[in-house]
Amino acid sequence: MNEEILILGAGVAGLGAARALPGARVFEAADHPGGHCYSHELDGIYFDEGAHICHAKDPDWLKLLYAAAGDVERISACDVSNHWQGHWVGYPVQNNLRDLPLAERITALKDFVRAIQDPSVDAPANYLDWCRKQYGDYLTDQFYRLYTDKYWRVSMEELGTDWLGGRLLPSQIDRIIEGAFAAPADSQAVFAQFHYPAQGGFYAFFKPLYAGLNITYASPAVEIRSARQEVVFADGRIESYEALASSVPLPDMVRMISDAPAAVQAAAAQLRHIQLLVVNLVVDRPVLSPFHWFYIYDQDIDVSRVKVNSNVAPRSVPPGRTALQCEIFRRTDEPMPVEELTDKAIGDMARLLGFDPATELRAHKAVPVSHAYVISDLQRVAAVDTIIPWLEARGIYPMGLFGRWKFIWSDAAYQSGEETAQRIKGRHAEG
Ligand SMILES: Cc1cc2nc3c(=O)[nH]c(=O)nc-3n(C[C@H](O)[C@H](O)[C@H](O)COP(=O)(O)OP(=O)(O)OC[C@H]3O[C@@H](n4cnc5c(N)ncnc54)[C@H](O)[C@@H]3O)c2cc1C
Repeated sequence: MNEEILILGAGVAGLGAARALPGARVFEAADHPGGHCYSHELDGIYFDEGAHICHAKDPDWLKLLYAAAGDVERISACDVSNHWQGHWVGYPVQNNLRDLPLAERITALKDFVRAIQDPSVDAPANYLDWCRKQYGDYLTDQFYRLYTDKYWRVSMEELGTDWLGGRLLPSQIDRIIEGAFAAPADSQAVFAQFHYPAQGGFYAFFKPLYAGLNITYASPAVEIRSARQEVVFADGRIESYEALASSVPLPDMVRMISDAPAAVQAAAAQLRHIQLLVVNLVVDRPVLSPFHWFYIYDQDIDVSRVKVNSNVAPRSVPPGRTALQCEIFRRTDEPMPVEELTDKAIGDMARLLGFDPATELRAHKAVPVSHAYVISDLQRVAAVDTIIPWLEARGIYPMGLFGRWKFIWSDAAYQSGEETAQRIKGRHAEG
């Protein structure tokens, strides 16, 4: 049953597709399942491939994850902060202006009022216009631009606005005014409530779901002979397919097809993403930070975001220790000197949080992640719309985060795999 269907990638999109297509054969480049939802062990503690939490709302999805993980932490008021020029500023910054020095607070408020009075930017052409309209010039230049430089590594003018939903809050006038004078009563994080496995990291939500699937590991696909409907793997093995579901990054998929037309190749060459280095730390000190995670705006610190694992899943970390994950982003055309960035991250965290790396750092490990986020620049949509229909016409169905080259959360990635399976089944039924 379904043996003629091949699935490339055993991330959660591959998982969703494989569970909906019993018997389909899955080939995975890595030596483990999970893709970006995998968690890496260090000193008995599990760290994700960049900060992961589950903020999904769908009860059926949560039921599946809860049953898989067994024991789950349910955080009902997420505590997030920003570090900026020696100050801890509440998150999001625009709703916590009281944490800024008085002169800055006044400038921020004046610029915000000017922005909402300005009728000139109705449909923002890019992320810069959007921020100026939502938050005003001061917050755009002092916070959002600085963070974009560290995180997206491209200018704000290059970014579209299609990635903002679920990441940034549009301005809320009441919140901004109130937050300039008084602390809010509730968490204002974009996802104030979330779920996380009590043990085993984010991957514990998915691990048991892989049982019984037909997965071959350490098997990267290197060539697709689309006319013959064959996949060639790195070890020389060749497999035929009737339909191919792929979570391989879209530009890699195009590069693997030698007869892709010039327009498709040109579109693939336009797709950009950022890479990530996570630096995982276990420190022999209790509660070094009160936050679940925090953002760092300072340009002299490479780390942009820090997740405090020992606050997110306290029972997974032995008492008396703090577990932290630091994230450093780079474009793919920038160097990523792992050792240098790791040493600098350790020094910066020691200074920021106050620990002695020589005597209190129990363990540390850096994990490079080649694909972190798709850069949602202004060419992305047109390029993706050129590539995907061409692939689908050849029986190749891109799915998931990098397969369709658009950021989605893990629940949507799983769903993308399920939907791909349904489309393949539909095509078989027709043909
Ligand atoms: C830094 C970061 C933070 C995130 N935070 C959250 C969060 O808080 N909550 C949330 O729900 N989601 C989060 N996500 C999103 C979530 O990780 C993804 O939606 C999900 O993991 C995507 O699954 P996927 O299967 O589509 O892709 P992937 O996880 O990328 O899986 C693709 C698989 O294909 C394999 N592969 C690649 N090339 C080949 C090849 N040539 N041959 C065979 N196999 C191949 C890869 O090894 C990989 O296992 C985050 C993502 C990132 C990067």
